[in-house]
Amino acid sequence: MAEETSDTSVEIRDTDIVFDCPECGKSLVIDYRGAGLQINCSECGASVLVPIPDGMELNDLDLDPGEILKQLFATRRNYQKVELKLQALKAKLVRMQEALGVMQEVVAEGISES
Ligand SMILES: [Zn+2]
Repeated sequence: MAEETSDTSVEIRDTDIVFDCPECGKSLVIDYRGAGLQINCSECGASVLVPIPDGMELNDLDLDPGEILKQLFATRRNYQKVELKLQALKAKLVRMQEALGVMQEVVAEGISES
């Protein structure tokens, strides 16, 4: 029995641009080479402008695909690094808040004792 893949399950690749149609809100997936192009929404037919991913300049489209991919992945790696840094900072903040809580308790005790 051969299973057919349904049309609704669109395979999204790392290099694809995913965005919502401004008219009907349908999630559209397009190859990164479509960045900055005008396309027609597959749902409502409205002509929509494909957004250019962060870190990608329109001029980059003149580069060869390999170069664009490298930049795209570099941007993603940087993003992940920033995320990790943010998590570390948040953890630090929690520890500092805990320490501050202890200090406030000590100060409060000191005041009530005097
Ligand atoms: Zn639409």
